[in-house]
Amino acid sequence: MSATDTAARTDVMGVGFDNVDMDEAVERAWELMVSRKGAYVVTPNPEIIMCCRTDAEAEKAVNGADLIIADGIGVIYGAKILKTPLKQKLPGIDFTCRLLERMAAHGMSLFLFGSKPGVAEKAAETLAERYAGLRIAGTNDGYFTNDANIVKKINEAAPDLLMVCLGAPKQEKWMAQRRGVVNAGLMIGAGGSLDVFAGTAERAPEKWQKAGLEWLYRLYKEPRRAGRMMKLPQFLLLTIGKRIRGK
Ligand code: UDP
Repeated sequence: MSATDTAARTDVMGVGFDNVDMDEAVERAWELMVSRKGAYVVTPNPEIIMCCRTDAEAEKAVNGADLIIADGIGVIYGAKILKTPLKQKLPGIDFTCRLLERMAAHGMSLFLFGSKPGVAEKAAETLAERYAGLRIAGTNDGYFTNDANIVKKINEAAPDLLMVCLGAPKQEKWMAQRRGVVNAGLMIGAGGSLDVFAGTAERAPEKWQKAGLEWLYRLYKEPRRAGRMMKLPQFLLLTIGKRIRGK
């Protein structure tokens, strides 16, 4: 199978997922990165799938990605309900860490783009310490007015991997629009990952992650997300409806 085989994707309520396990996902991302074709990876959760149903630009940006992996248990349940199970839940942050580990062993470079001022720098310090050999090509916060300057800065740094952390669907749209313009081996839309690496946000304890309850922990920590999270039951109801109707 080639690095990007979109025909083989598994449709989950309008978003086509690559049915890959962690090793396969990392391998495909690696192939895309070293080919330096400006490809991008997205990690949709049910909230993003629901967003794609009403935002055509987001839908195009998400489905236009070169690798689409299932971030979170909601997508896994959805696929199961639709009788097209996916191999594995692949949280974007775990996938990114696996890729960074491999990049570090080859002395490759990373540019961190997004989050509030200071966060990307702090995340860069943590990652440089954690992954000896990884080169930090640059950082930029995600609250910008002049996009052209940021593209210029990234292109001068020419990183192997560009983490785009602007929240969804902004980051997916940004990557789709900049494909072919940004000189990076690979881009990945990585949401709140920089906040986690910088220590400004906390991930759920491993037990919660394993139980598929990371979303609940996040809700407990950030109750303001309740509105956004209502998309999860809506998504599951829609998948059940689709299964019952058989289309
Ligand atoms: N963000 C940004 N620019 C913006 C809006 C958001 O850099 O214009 C950042 C925000 O600071 C946060 C990340 O994007 O670090 C989004 O985090 P969130 O937890 O909402 O992401 P999710 O993974 O849920 O999409």
